[in-house]
Amino acid sequence: MVKGLLDSFNLFISLLIKVIKLFHKKNVKYNKSFIGAEYGTYELGEFHLFNVIWHVKYPRYDAFEKLNINTITLSNIVIDTTPRCPTCKTELKETKTKFTRKVKFQCVNCRFSTTANQNSEELVIDVERIVKNKYENRRMKDV
Ligand SMILES: [Zn+2]
Repeated sequence: MVKGLLDSFNLFISLLIKVIKLFHKKNVKYNKSFIGAEYGTYELGEFHLFNVIWHVKYPRYDAFEKLNINTITLSNIVIDTTPRCPTCKTELKETKTKFTRKVKFQCVNCRFSTTANQNSEELVIDVERIVKNKYENRRMKDV
């Protein structure tokens, strides 16, 4: 009798957690930001691409959930739109050069600077493609 009650209580709690998680995921998918992630973000790592460093993050839906790289939803990965200096990790200043139409990334802390054909918002789309592909390949190796 008591065990039956306990079982149904456990079922109720696990269903409740599932509903909450689903709700959080829905929120995040729509705007590709961390609005649904009330517990902040996981730092997945740094990727050195296009001569600069990109911070890769993953929304945290649950305070106790441990991040498992093999089961995360790759479409939820978010790349920080501000690239960082490969030498000292400071956020880079972005300017457009008038004549060459190139984008210049400069570090205000050290003397690092580099140019690109696209601005950081355009670059971040390519970075996301590459990062997702790297994680997919890593998973395939594990299987
Ligand atoms: Zn620097």
